[in-house]
Amino acid sequence: MGLEAKKYMDAGDLVPDEVVVGIIRDRMTGDTVNNFLLDGFPRTLPQAEALDEMLTGLDAPVDHVLSLEVPRDDLVSRLAGRWLCRKCGRSFHEKFAPYQDEPCSKDGDRCDLYQRDDDKAEAVENRLNVFAAQTEPLVEYYDKAGLLRRIDGGKAQDEVYEQIRSAVQGR
Ligand SMILES: [Zn+2]
Repeated sequence: MGLEAKKYMDAGDLVPDEVVVGIIRDRMTGDTVNNFLLDGFPRTLPQAEALDEMLTGLDAPVDHVLSLEVPRDDLVSRLAGRWLCRKCGRSFHEKFAPYQDEPCSKDGDRCDLYQRDDDKAEAVENRLNVFAAQTEPLVEYYDKAGLLRRIDGGKAQDEVYEQIRSAVQGR
């Protein structure tokens, strides 16, 4: 299935949903069936339906769906504030982890910062619009199924961690 996916990626195409679900299916061996976490998938309703069908076939239904919810303005500043060094690859954040003129670990000179195209403000807006159109419907889908756990992602890291921990406990 991985090789199948590679064909699409090499051609610059999106990997079809059934291939992605097939990759997950291939990993579902032994204890994994009862202990897995998917991050960033599914992203669309058809993907969620294909995933459900596959997991139902394995008698391994989803227990929890975590929705990490962050106000849009915060998301834009988190995503669009990210800068990378061309030389050492480290990442910085304008607000949360600013570059402090320390020497680059590569050559001892200054880091050479740049912003990835998809982290630029305009691209971030576009990513959020795609998310709203394609992925947001999953909130209702999983809420109806009684699986949705809303997490306040606007809080500090340790508080977000605690919320997630208590959401998945006692399944
Ligand atoms: Zn550097």
